[in-house]
Order: sequence, then C-alpha cells, then structure tokens
Amino acid sequence: VLSIVWLRNDLRLSNNPALLYGVNQGTILPIYIYDDTVPDHYAMGAASKYWLHRSLHALNASMDKNLQVFKGNPLSILQQLLREFPNAHVLWNRGYEPWQIARDAQIKQALKEQGVIVKSFNGHLLWEPMSVLKKDNTPYKVFTPYYRKGCLQKTPPAYPSAAPENIQYMVECKSSTSIEKLRLAPQIAWHKTMDTLWQPGEAGAKEKLAVYLEGAAKTYQNDRNLPAVKGTSLLSPHLHFGEISPHQVWYAVIDAFGGDIENADCDTYLSELGWREFSHYLLFHFPHITHDNFNSKFDAFTWEHNDALLTAWQTGQTGVPIVDAGMRELYETGYMHNRVRMVVGSYLVKNLLIDWRYGERWFWDTLLDADLAANTASWQWVAGTGADASPYFRIFNPILQGEKFDKEGEYVKKYCPELRLLPKKYIHQPWNAPADILKACKVTLGVDYPEPVVDLKASRDKALAAFAKMKEAL
Ligand code: FAD
Repeated sequence: VLSIVWLRNDLRLSNNPALLYGVNQGTILPIYIYDDTVPDHYAMGAASKYWLHRSLHALNASMDKNLQVFKGNPLSILQQLLREFPNAHVLWNRGYEPWQIARDAQIKQALKEQGVIVKSFNGHLLWEPMSVLKKDNTPYKVFTPYYRKGCLQKTPPAYPSAAPENIQYMVECKSSTSIEKLRLAPQIAWHKTMDTLWQPGEAGAKEKLAVYLEGAAKTYQNDRNLPAVKGTSLLSPHLHFGEISPHQVWYAVIDAFGGDIENADCDTYLSELGWREFSHYLLFHFPHITHDNFNSKFDAFTWEHNDALLTAWQTGQTGVPIVDAGMRELYETGYMHNRVRMVVGSYLVKNLLIDWRYGERWFWDTLLDADLAANTASWQWVAGTGADASPYFRIFNPILQGEKFDKEGEYVKKYCPELRLLPKKYIHQPWNAPADILKACKVTLGVDYPEPVVDLKASRDKALAAFAKMKEAL
C-alpha cells in the first residue's frame, strides 16, 4: 500500500504515529504543504517561517531527500496527488487549532466521499483535549485539577516509539516544488544571531534535550526563573514544530531522574509540559480566546491606543531595563525567557494599558516558538483576562522582578550594553541613580538610554483605576 503521509507540526521521524503506520503498511510519500489559504490571524509570523525553512531542509536530509513540498490549498493538492497515485491512503497527525480542525474535517470528508482511506493520529499532545473532561462532562478551567486529576490520575502518556528503519519512499512525484520556492527564508539578514543559537530539526531537538538532561534538569525548579542562567530546556520551538514529541521529552526527563517523578525538579518540569497541554486544551474547548477575552468582563475595559508607547515596547526603548532587555532578546534571538515574558507582558498591559492582543501579535511575529495555544493562553494569563489567570490587580513591579531574578543585572547588561557600567543598585532603575554615578558610568538618560516612557507608580495607579471602573460598570 502507498500512504501519503501529510506532515505538519510533526517534522520528525521518531515517534511519529502517522509516519510509522504508513511505513508498516508499505511505501510512503512524505509531503509538506505550505497552506497559503490559512486565515491571516493564524498564518505564520516571520520568525516561524524562518524556523520552518530550516526545519524542512533538516527533515528532507533525514529522509534521503524524499520529502515532497507543495504550496497552496491542501485539499486541491491532495486531490492532485490522488490523481497521480489513485489507490494511495492519506495519513496525518492531528492538529488542534480551531481553523485546523475545521480545515482537516472538511478535507477528511471530501476525500472519504471520493472513496479514499484517510486516517489521523495523535502525535502532538500527551492527552488529547476531547478525552479530558470533568465528572459533569464540562471542560476544566483551572490548571491544577485539570492536570493532576483530569490527566495524571487517569492515563499515563503513551510510551514513544522509535524511528522506523528501512523506509520505502515513493520517489516519483511530478507536482511537487522545492523548499526554496516556498519563499520562507528571510529576504534581509535579521536572523544571523538566530543561526548561531538554534539548530532547527530533529537532531537539534535531541541535542537540546540531551544538554538539558546533562545540566539544567537537576536545578530546574530554582534556575528556571533566572534569565541570565541557561536554566530551562529551550525546547519550545522544537516542540511547536514537532521535531520532538512531548512523549519523548516526558519519558526522557523521568528516566533522567531514575523514575522519581516526585523529585521537585522533575515534577516542576513535567508540569510545564502540562501547561503546554492545558493551553491546547483551552484553545480546543474555548476557540474564541484567540480573539476575545476569556473573561468577557474585560470587554468593558478601556485600553489606551498609543502607537508611540507600543513602538517603544516593541523595540526595547521603554526606559525600564528588564523590559527592554527582554524585548531586545526577543528581537535578536527569536526567544525570550519565560519570567521576562511575564514581566514585559504585565508592563504592556498594566503600565502602558495597551490591549494584550497587541502584545500577542508582536510575539506571534517574532517568537521562534510562536504557538497559537501557548501564546494566546499565556497572554490572557498575564493580562488577567484568561482562565485560571493571574488577577488583573496583581501587577508585576519590573524593578523588584529585576532585583529578584536578575540580581547582578547580568541579563540586563547583556541586552542593554549601554548600561553595563552601572552598579547593581541602579541597574534596574537607572532613573534613580545620582547624576555623578550616571556620569561616571557614561550614561546620559534620554541620550544613551531612554528616560522611562511612563512613571511606574502613576501608570500602575491608572491601571488599577481603570480596573475599578470596569468592575463598577458591570
Ligand atoms: P522550559 O521551561 O524548558 O519548559 C519546557 C516546555 O514546557 C516548553 O518548551 C514549552 O513547550 C512548555 N511550557 C513551559 N512553560 C509554558 C507555559 N507557561 N505555557 C505553555 N507551555 C509552556 N510558549 C510557547 O511555546 N509558545 C508561545 O508562543 C509562548 N508565548 C508566551 C507568551 C507569554 C506572554 C508568556 C508569559 C509565555 C509564553 N510561552 C509560550 C510560554 C513559555 O514562556 C515558553 O514555553 C518557555 O519560555 C519556553 O522555553 P523553554 O523551552 O526553555 O521552557
């Protein structure tokens, strides 16, 4: 039997259920379709396209150059392929984004009506969203009961399979194009730093996992909060593109702790994978959250529209060092540390009073791990508009966050080198440094580094007042 294996966010050979099924049935035609009919809001941002470009090359190499790529409408492309290979089966691993579910359901139905055998599998999540519900058959809205009761206590994640050997590829395919013709690679070279930091593809993912297990895994609970330390696994873009499955990561981490899942470093890491699941779960059960506040009370909130402040935030020019360092890290490396994502998010929403959706869109375009589920759910969490969210009135103080998690100011100095001479007492609040210290450190505020674009206390009070007004209006 010939199986067309439609690869999507599962760009790997190992533990790939659709691919394995196809290989066990006979010959496979592995394809990737760059779907140019995806609605704008869900279409890949620039950083994601950069990653995809490199990842497809890596996958093609690991398939002895047998990956066939296409650009266009997936249903038309599949139908064209089925004219070329009339008896082929079509296989894929399921996606869980609302637009994807609708698209795939339509394709499945259309092909089945033509008499084609179509099968889909789960390769992306430890627990599929439709299989986890409360006793009353409604979805969970709070993480801890979802994860502990709904998932962990019920079924252990499936054990990952190895990569199949001796894959038989269908080598003739007339209609495919080349990876370069997808035009995913950046036209201008903004990605130089990224090239040095990341190795998209399955081998790069395995390497990142190995480095993590050798090092940071044993101190994860504490070090994951320190942006100057490599205290996390850096697996997020690899997981997003499915270059490694969450099952592989889950069991590799447990093995590294000798099976001791109660170990605090192990448990904390596994629960972060749990947050990844929960994000997908929320998006599946509440698909409107990509556009609307999860908590509709916030529809009445009066956001400010200020392009100058938004640009200052995007470009790391707010005058608040930990915020600027984070935004510059994002732009240069395609990544931002989780603690800092929370700080910059809180600052955008609660000091600049800008609608979280602007932050979500900027992250969508610039993050290499941009993921509709994780990004939407995390932004709503930070903004206080989400399910199980940090309450709106809990406002991160970026000075205290900096002093607690970047004590020596190393992270700030790395991304805001103009502040590198400042003593740690002022590194997170240069506007409070005496004039002679600023001078000795070669910093003129407003020239070398911006004055704060808003006063932290006054803006915080304004946000709280807007929140109180919203509550009153209800
Ligand atoms: P680790 O600490 O090593 O965690 C392991 C894995 O768990 C991650 O790779 C990721 O897949 C998952 N994970 C960890 N934390 C979270 C979380 N809070 N929510 C969901 N999954 C999590 N993560 C994305 O993958 N894509 C996004 O677009 C994204 N946008 C975010 C936006 C904001 C405002 C915030 C606050 C967080 C966002 N996150 C997003 C979550 C988190 O910041 C990243 O997953 C994490 O920083 C990735 O680094 P890591 O792989 O080293 O994480």
